[in-house]
Amino acid sequence: MSKEIPYKIYLEENEMPDSWYNVRADMKKKPAPLVNPATLKPVTADDLKPVFCDELIAQELDDKTAFFPIPQEIRDFYKMYRPSPLVRAYCLEKKLGTPAKIYYKFEGNNTSGSHKLNSAIAQAYYAKKQGLKGVTTETGAGQWGTALSMACSYFDLDCQVYMVKVSYEQKPFRREVIRTYGASITPSPSDTTNIGRKILAEHPGTGGSLGCAISEAVEAATTQEGYRYVLGSVLNQVLLHQSVIGLESKIAMDKYGIKPDMIIGCAGGGSNLGGLISPFVGEKLRGEADYDIVAVEPASCPSLTRGTFAYDFCDTGRVCPMAKMYTLGSGFMPSPNHAGGLRYHGMSPVLSELYDQKLMRAVSVEQTKVFEAAEQFARVEGILPAPESSHAIRAAIDEALKCKETGEEKTILFGLTGTGYFDLYAYKAFNDGEMSDYIPTDDELKASFAQLPKQPE
Ligand SMILES: *Cc1c(COP(=O)(O)O)cnc(C)c1O
Repeated sequence: MSKEIPYKIYLEENEMPDSWYNVRADMKKKPAPLVNPATLKPVTADDLKPVFCDELIAQELDDKTAFFPIPQEIRDFYKMYRPSPLVRAYCLEKKLGTPAKIYYKFEGNNTSGSHKLNSAIAQAYYAKKQGLKGVTTETGAGQWGTALSMACSYFDLDCQVYMVKVSYEQKPFRREVIRTYGASITPSPSDTTNIGRKILAEHPGTGGSLGCAISEAVEAATTQEGYRYVLGSVLNQVLLHQSVIGLESKIAMDKYGIKPDMIIGCAGGGSNLGGLISPFVGEKLRGEADYDIVAVEPASCPSLTRGTFAYDFCDTGRVCPMAKMYTLGSGFMPSPNHAGGLRYHGMSPVLSELYDQKLMRAVSVEQTKVFEAAEQFARVEGILPAPESSHAIRAAIDEALKCKETGEEKTILFGLTGTGYFDLYAYKAFNDGEMSDYIPTDDELKASFAQLPKQPE
């Protein structure tokens, strides 16, 4: 207990977790199953077989098994960039003059610049093991496409990425990283798929969206022999793989007798937050400990704080199974001035259920405030954070400042999911004083909720 806490807590390779933890196993009320949009009945493994890899389907549907051993090949790959450091933000604490103790788990130490590689390598491994030729996917900001291209090149799999057209045009350097890893990359919507051609005909000149790129990638997977589709967030299997973040954090904290009072993470589709909190939520569910868990989302895309808990489509083209989640409606798109990432209309069914059961809370923050926090953090902690991650930084700073007022010495853990080197247009807008905020009106959300599909019984 009295051990002095270093700036960085590193684990040894042999201290890394050897299994992923499936938080659903400890949930009394489980997340609602995915349903088939045609029948409104829970999907079966057979329904999913044409789209996803077999072993990933088994992980997706399993809400009973608590631990899944991490295959040796994946552990070997993890060792190249993990364990990731848990950092005590001494410099930020000092700058803020707070009695709070702030820790962050840094996932930006790999070429994808994010936590996405933790699941990409697992998904590529299972695709390879199944003897597939390749996988297809979508990418928005580009971190997932990069992570998957890295994972596929490692296992010698073909990788086809549909990148949201605005990002494709705004982030030419992301594109080159992805191509360097041997993946092919198509701006979406494209004329290479039926759904892409349909969307282009209906919305000529559109910059695309994540939901639309998902539809194209799914179509590409199901129309080519030996291909499957993979997804970088939202799904249960992705949260399972990302549990490595939380497990490592817990091992590192236990080593020094540290117990966080609060755990904070940004939430887009929910994978990093779900991964970070999973072992802690497990303790909460089993009645062993309590933690204040906070999801942070953009005010311009507020699925938890202003969404509705209902079955919805996961993609614009409505080709994927429907999930019960907090959603803004699958047609919702954040306003064009939104530069902070986390643009997905829904939220992981696991996190949605935990939120609905009040096992975690959520806050929303405006992007100019997010970039102010990013700047403050970069100037004292030396890392240029991703805009997504900076949502968590904002909330952590706000909580630390509250402690300054009350004198409480809370221990705060937050997830620093990645770096922002490819987000410099957004930083430029902020530095030029040209960044603005947009909060959707109640009427806009109401119009979007009106488009929700028919709900299963
Ligand atoms: C993708 C991404 C996120 C958001 O996705 P989640 O699934 O909600 O974790 C956050 N930070 C970074 C750096 C990302 O690349």
